[in-house]
Amino acid sequence: MKKKGNLFVICGPSGVGKGTVCKELLKRRPDIKLSISATTRKKRNGELEGVNYYFISKENFQDMINKDEFWEYAEVYGNLYGTPKKYVLEHINNGEDVLLEIDIQGALQIKEKYPEGVFIFILPPSMKELRNRIVNRGTDSKESIEKRLKAAFREIDFIDKYDYYIINDKLENSISKLISIIEAEKCRVKDD
Ligand code: 5GP
Repeated sequence: MKKKGNLFVICGPSGVGKGTVCKELLKRRPDIKLSISATTRKKRNGELEGVNYYFISKENFQDMINKDEFWEYAEVYGNLYGTPKKYVLEHINNGEDVLLEIDIQGALQIKEKYPEGVFIFILPPSMKELRNRIVNRGTDSKESIEKRLKAAFREIDFIDKYDYYIINDKLENSISKLISIIEAEKCRVKDD
């Protein structure tokens, strides 16, 4: 039987830079397939349909829930996000590695359904630095910054649910750790 691909799930608090880490990883490892999520959030400047997300209405999202088309879905900061099941399972079953960049609620759902996934948590060097990063990206109100920081403390409490953590200090260091984790997992003989 054909060997299945690996599922890598990247998670971490808002502002930690996981999007940048994933983007850089995919540039260097085009063999890894990125799962594109569906969301009801409005498209931001520069975002593209089918590249960053599938931007859909709440009605269409509900329709996908009803048809059981999501592997997981969650509400994150007032918007719905979900991982379409078909794409991920097709690629994994075809022996290809798939990357998900999702929030903690989604990661916990996937862990229940697919414990053989590799769960990686990206940490900030410090909470002070996380606050700086959220403030500096300039997209959040004062209230939203506090909300995201509180959520970050809660998310970090779940660190023992993950297989690996990476402290995102310098992008280059984080990428090389992530690639090492991926390579090690691809050489795994057995699970225990
Ligand atoms: P943003 O709106 O800034 O792109 O993403 C907000 C949050 O939603 C991030 O933490 C991101 O990881 C998470 N997210 C993106 N796609 C999904 C998804 O398909 N499922 C879940 N549960 N979270 C997602």
